[in-house]
Amino acid sequence: MTATLIDGKAFAAGLRQRIAAEVAAMRDRGITPGLAVVLVGEDPASQVYVRSKGKQTVEVGMNSYEHKLPADTAEADLLALIKRLNGDPDVNGILVQLPLPGHMDEAAVINAIDPAKDVDGFHILNVGLLATGQKSMVPCTPLGCLMMLRDHLGSLSGKRAVVVGRSNIVGKPMAQLLLRDSATVTIAHSRTQDLPALCREADILVAAVGRPHFVKGDWIKPGATVIDVGINRTEDGLVGDVDFAAAREVAGAITPVPGGVGPMTIACLLANTLTATARVNGLPDPEGLTP
Ligand code: NDP
Repeated sequence: MTATLIDGKAFAAGLRQRIAAEVAAMRDRGITPGLAVVLVGEDPASQVYVRSKGKQTVEVGMNSYEHKLPADTAEADLLALIKRLNGDPDVNGILVQLPLPGHMDEAAVINAIDPAKDVDGFHILNVGLLATGQKSMVPCTPLGCLMMLRDHLGSLSGKRAVVVGRSNIVGKPMAQLLLRDSATVTIAHSRTQDLPALCREADILVAAVGRPHFVKGDWIKPGATVIDVGINRTEDGLVGDVDFAAAREVAGAITPVPGGVGPMTIACLLANTLTATARVNGLPDPEGLTP
């Protein structure tokens, strides 16, 4: 059996088209969504992400504001910038690119962002709202995964889901979203015992580990839906956390790397910026862009 490919690139392109149409309708009412992206330092991967975020923001008709600060910026200066962006009515979304330089307190910086403009969904208030099933800003990567899963499977209710990885950025919010859709969810991590056996129980397997080809083909339940979040730079180029060639022979459906979760993440950042803009203007949430 060869798995169906879940084409995140095409899905994201469709999503961006819908967002662009919503932005055009907002602009007709005199509202232009604005996204501010703050980059501290010169991490090459972060620079690439920030560039493509800015480009896609403009392509859907939103305003993009980029703030590049040197690596030795004092935390107080970054906090002052965030305070200014919080108070700027033209800015609907604020994203501080992670990781931050070691001398900064990442949690303090994230929690300084106005929760209503926290388009990454990492502010403690949004984390709590998601965990308690309330309206919030939802982290982009898991939101993109959820959209692809729903699109492919329809209802997730009662399905066995295993999320490998427990980061605040991917693993934990992914588990919350699956739980919210009534999947039976297990979170695995580096201390999990007999991970292959656990993965073999999963109808939905999400890999967010950060190790190339970590999940083997024989860990996958035949017919399972596999979402590979991993982005690992290797000599063979970008590869995921799943041994794609082997997994493809067993799974029912799988996301490729590249071209799976990655493109959906930026599309969901734009979706969140649109949602934040709608909310601050007292408009209903745009259809299908929130969980
Ligand atoms: P983190 O490093 O924060 O978390 C990795 C998780 O994997 C941890 O919970 C860790 O467990 C777990 N883990 C590590 N080794 C093992 C092991 N041997 N067995 C089981 N679990 C293990 O990574 P992120 O969540 O930030 O990212 C994960 C991957 O996703 C990376 O490749 C990253 O590049 C990618 N990514 C992709 C995005 C996209 O847009 N497609 C966006 C964000 C991330 P423990 O907690 O016990 O240490």
